[in-house]
Amino acid sequence: MTDNDVDLFVIGAGSGGVRAARIAASYGARVMIAEEYRVGGTCVIRGCVPKKLLVYASRFSDEFEDAIGYGWSVGKPKFDWTALIANKDREIARLEAAYTTTLGRYNVEIVKSRAVLEDAHTVRLATGARIRAETILIATGARPHHGTPIAGEKHVISSNEAFHLKKLPKRILIQGGGYIALEFAGIFNGLGSEVTLVYRGEKILRGFDEDVREHLTRELELRGIKVLTRKIVKEVEKVDHGFDVVLSDNEQIVVDLAMFATGRRPNVEGLGLETAGVKISERSGIMVDAYSRTSVPNIYAVGDVTDRVNLTPVAIREGHAFADTVFGDKPTKVDHSNVPTAVFSEPEVGVIGLTEAQAVEKLGKVDIYKTSFRPMKATLSGRDTRVFMKLVVDGNTDKIVGCHIIGPDAAELIQVVGIAVTMGATKADFDATMAVHPTAAEELITLREKAMTYGRAAAE
Ligand code: NDP
Repeated sequence: MTDNDVDLFVIGAGSGGVRAARIAASYGARVMIAEEYRVGGTCVIRGCVPKKLLVYASRFSDEFEDAIGYGWSVGKPKFDWTALIANKDREIARLEAAYTTTLGRYNVEIVKSRAVLEDAHTVRLATGARIRAETILIATGARPHHGTPIAGEKHVISSNEAFHLKKLPKRILIQGGGYIALEFAGIFNGLGSEVTLVYRGEKILRGFDEDVREHLTRELELRGIKVLTRKIVKEVEKVDHGFDVVLSDNEQIVVDLAMFATGRRPNVEGLGLETAGVKISERSGIMVDAYSRTSVPNIYAVGDVTDRVNLTPVAIREGHAFADTVFGDKPTKVDHSNVPTAVFSEPEVGVIGLTEAQAVEKLGKVDIYKTSFRPMKATLSGRDTRVFMKLVVDGNTDKIVGCHIIGPDAAELIQVVGIAVTMGATKADFDATMAVHPTAAEELITLREKAMTYGRAAAE
């Protein structure tokens, strides 16, 4: 017996924290988890899950339009934002309850409170109660960050508020060119808002393959989203008719709502990290080793608060690996390479592995295969859209080191392609796979003509 109250105290009941708590408890640990907002964290409460529900809602408008070419006439569809939000809220409440029940089933004690470190083994709750723990896990996630403050910033919303708007804005300006900006641009556009996207760089989706960045921009513009690049929002002024948004080149845009999706920052403030001796990086993520252990040996951290790969499935893996390592006697590292990811924009983006530029820099010898085609459904609907697919192949080994897809169900496709890529599939393996016809996915295994070859001349 120790004089600790619990074996594990988890701060933050989001994806990483909940998984870690549950697995540690399954190994027999006495676990307490503190959550100051709602059980489920960003992904369940105001991230992936409600976002995907809104994405589904937004896609019906295309379906209604496309149906005409297939012989349907459906009158003028009407959309009710209030009904959507109420239904979404009900589903989120159901999921929160399910998470809570699961934790209870594993005898994890939930405390609805902020928790602050007093030293390496002591956590103080809002009530003033102190809990002694053998091991502490910090899984406090991240929050929206708006960058350098601007005049009128108080009028600007983040994705947190976007989930609870009283009504659908007729005109919205979204600043940012990453995941959240593009996903909400698609949501509002599909639901009927006039959307202006303002991005500071030359091309949206920095870090993604150049072809993906260009193809998606074209697709957004085809859907009527106004994409303004090399600009930032300088000022937001509240006026009678909404908001006047002034951009860096002094262009003025009148909207009903301005939203920033300019990145997220780890939740590290006011947690007592300094007192406990937990080090944070320059970008303010908690520094951890491959086992998610911080600079204090009995304190660990997983998920967005560590600012590694900020995606839910990664946080879940990290939480699980932590519990296996510390409570299951199975030291486990998480492989952060080859993480498939999707942007639920309209159309969707699904990617895994290296971009063309990264592969050329890293491998020298690289073969590129790519295609862009009109999806079959667009023939009768007449919709002006194209699917894009690209394979990046290691010229030395023939292994597929990157796959980039834009089009319907790109997220679903990349999940499955991800298995092959993770297993080390070669281009020859793809070629040997029989096609499923007629599908868009068959294009991935019937790509025969190289679009580009790097490094051959020198090597051969
Ligand atoms: P991202 O980092 O993806 O994008 C932030 C965008 O804001 C970038 O385009 C960035 O430009 C721009 N930006 C940053 N600072 C400023 C500034 N001061 N002024 C103007 N523009 C600025 O962050 P998100 O907020 O979109 O999402 C956060 C993270 O959450 C994602 O990176 C991802 O890890 C995760 N996420 C994942 C999702 C998924 O899996 N589908 C969905 C939503 C979020 P620049 O490119 O020039 O830096």
